Amino acid sequence: MSAPAYLDHNATSPLRPVAFDAMVEALRAGGNPSSVHDAGRKARAIVDKARREVASLVGALPTETIFTSGGTEANNLALSGAGRRRVLVSAIEHDSVRRGVPHAEILPVDSDGVLDLAALDATLAASSEPVLVSVMLANNETGVLQPIAEVVRLARAVGALVHCDAVQGAGKVPVDLQGLGVDYLSLSAHKLGGPTGVGALVVRNGAPFSPDRLGGGQESNRRAGTENVAGIAGFGAAAQAARVGLDVTGMRDQLELSLVQIAPGATVFGAKAPRIGNTTCISMPGVPAETQVMALDLAGVCISAGAACSSGKVQRSPVLTAMGVAAEEATWATRISLGWNTEPADIERLITAWQNLYIRVRQSDISHTHSRARAA
Ligand code: PLP
Repeated sequence: MSAPAYLDHNATSPLRPVAFDAMVEALRAGGNPSSVHDAGRKARAIVDKARREVASLVGALPTETIFTSGGTEANNLALSGAGRRRVLVSAIEHDSVRRGVPHAEILPVDSDGVLDLAALDATLAASSEPVLVSVMLANNETGVLQPIAEVVRLARAVGALVHCDAVQGAGKVPVDLQGLGVDYLSLSAHKLGGPTGVGALVVRNGAPFSPDRLGGGQESNRRAGTENVAGIAGFGAAAQAARVGLDVTGMRDQLELSLVQIAPGATVFGAKAPRIGNTTCISMPGVPAETQVMALDLAGVCISAGAACSSGKVQRSPVLTAMGVAAEEATWATRISLGWNTEPADIERLITAWQNLYIRVRQSDISHTHSRARAA
């Protein structure tokens, strides 16, 4: 059988060849970026180059960019590093934000999955102490884009700081730190074709920040620990490649049209809101997400059951719950996400496998109904 059609880029996008090459080169070079000798200087040059590449993807300065072990650490670091006790987060944030601040106040979203700005405004107005607001750029399950510029405008009016988890947005839509106006921005390499286990927190010059780990003076005293040089090199190369953006919206829209034609009762969640062009969160009526993921896997297509969580267990999606999707319908939702190497043939394969499964399930439903009728 040919290689699977990989349509789970929001989980991890395959490593881009340029990132692979940069990593191999860095591994060959070896060295510790803190060493003053030749090998150390070479490692430092690799990290510095990658820092420029990552910073430039999001319109930040290299000095504003701190490498981390991924998006999770970047989110945790922003939430603790900002030093604000009162924190407001949207109801659809990634676990690394929601669980990163268990005492955070939750801001609702509407039925399209867009942050309720009136609720943010009212909550900010009711606050007597300095606040940090954390709202993601694009949701990992639905792809729905959040109104960050409006969040910043409301937050600034009351002196609140703003963190934006841009892990799913960067490389898919243009991201500009200055334009967005946020104080902290989280990134993850493996969502844009870099390696897993590396990310960055961008801290706007002048924004308050205190590190969360003690040790050496790496990352300008903001994140102790010898840098993951090869991972950082891969991140830089992937970020550079991702600057051209991702042009898959046409394929995604065609895919949604085809699936809804096959199963007219299917719902595309968040379809009415602005979304990143690579993500579809769609239900196959009556078919549990786990069944869909397994059947498609057997047909050589990789997708995920909503927010496939780290344990591999499928739990009820807090994102769809926050959007008011009925509990049963939420269990039918899967996430299909396209990326830099997606070809029309991958989409065709998914459509065929999805249709075959849907027909199979319908036929077995019909034969069950008939045998029940005969038995009655
Ligand atoms: N934020 C969002 C929106 C994500 O989708 C993810 C990963 O799924 C993360 C943060 C965590 O990133 P990482 O896997 O690099 O820790």
